[in-house]
Amino acid sequence: MLLQHQREPLRPAELPEPRPGPGQVLILVHACGVCRTDLHVMDGEVRASRLPVVCGHQIVGTVEGSGERVGVPWLGWTCGECRYCRSGRENLCDRARFTGADRDGGFAEYTVADERFCFPIPEEYGDVEAAPLLCAGLIGYRSLRMTGDAERLGLYGFGASAHIVAQVAGHQGRRVFAFTKPGDVDGQAFARELGAEWAGGSDERPPEDLDAAILFAPAGELVPTALAALSKGGTVVCAGIHMTDIPSFPYELLWSERRIRSVANLTRADGEEFLALAPRVPVRTEVETFPLAEANEALDRLRAGSIRGAAVLLA
Ligand SMILES: [Zn+2]
Ligand SMILES: [Zn+2]
Repeated sequence: MLLQHQREPLRPAELPEPRPGPGQVLILVHACGVCRTDLHVMDGEVRASRLPVVCGHQIVGTVEGSGERVGVPWLGWTCGECRYCRSGRENLCDRARFTGADRDGGFAEYTVADERFCFPIPEEYGDVEAAPLLCAGLIGYRSLRMTGDAERLGLYGFGASAHIVAQVAGHQGRRVFAFTKPGDVDGQAFARELGAEWAGGSDERPPEDLDAAILFAPAGELVPTALAALSKGGTVVCAGIHMTDIPSFPYELLWSERRIRSVANLTRADGEEFLALAPRVPVRTEVETFPLAEANEALDRLRAGSIRGAAVLLA
């Protein structure tokens, strides 16, 4: 399913089987998760350095030849030489190349990937259940780490990422407060099932102040909303790759050492740490599957916010 032009639906296409270059492996795709970043790439809000491109960066498949089951995440390649790479921050690499934006991804039957950036998939997970771990889980986990030891944690936007983070946060003994679109009672019930002690609309105040909040919804107006729900010294973590503009707000909301920060991409160390932790929690992913040919339907449903948990395409 090919993205030929941004702001157009994906189109089915017959491409030649990709050929792995040096250091790359050819992967038979079994499942590929659908991420909000795919929507941002399609909408032109995130740059794709090549078009047409095959989107999709939560790939689970087997390596042709060895049969090893691997996962391919968003971070597809880094230079290893820039100041970020040399200081353990390869997520910020100046020349990083991203799966499904700079190189073809997993909305396809085959893909190629740099084997140094593939992860082994924990055997406890089926292909479909594992797919959302690779971005929703990984970026969610990195975002959770950026909240430090926050005890009262707010999650704004209860989609694929939050449904995983809520489980990890509960496992770590944190208290989770979930915010959905106002009136989304199904989403609020889902959050409570996954351990949130309180769930409400993003226009509501939580019953007590939060030590940190993670914003998964790409809505800039939630930044001042979340700041206003923080206790002193609290942090707002913006987990998305794109967000609408943040409206101006009184300095008082930031005062008392509150912080706003973003989280960008992932490192391989994040992936190794999270994929070791997930089966111990254990994280259970809720997925809705679609045949590859129905990728546009899955993307539309994600856009509409009507996916419970994560959407996964079956190749
Ligand atoms: Zn680099
Ligand atoms: Zn993603």
